Amino acid sequence: MIEARNSPIHGIGAFAAKDLKAGQRIGQYEGRRYTARQAAARDWDHALTYVFGLSDGSIIDAAEGGNPTRHLNHSCAPNCEAQEETGPRGRLQIVFYALRDLKAGEELFLDYCLMVEEPQAAGDHYRCVCGAAQCRGTLLAPQGAA
Ligand SMILES: [Zn+2]
Repeated sequence: MIEARNSPIHGIGAFAAKDLKAGQRIGQYEGRRYTARQAAARDWDHALTYVFGLSDGSIIDAAEGGNPTRHLNHSCAPNCEAQEETGPRGRLQIVFYALRDLKAGEELFLDYCLMVEEPQAAGDHYRCVCGAAQCRGTLLAPQGAA
């Protein structure tokens, strides 16, 4: 349902491979799983690009075994959203849905809403250049978000 190719915004992006309907499931984030304990024991600095954190503290690293969903770029005006769901055997998983009808060939975006421990210290590292009218200038979660 999605394909990866060069993005005008940033690096490689994920694009709709066919027309998609609002609310349609477009894919699941795949990759190597780390439990919260394994994740804490690993140095992630080199690999943050493809890392997705779950609410139980576990992590999916799509650098290994990932699919095209790992190329979803950030936008402050996203057209997709990520939902954390409980999958088979009770394991948490990340599933992506279209927020509106999408045409084949449109680039797909998520709002990353990143959380970091010291946002003030992060400086320009998470600067956003998505170009949306409501761009908030950062990949970090809005101030005051839970
Ligand atoms: Zn932006």
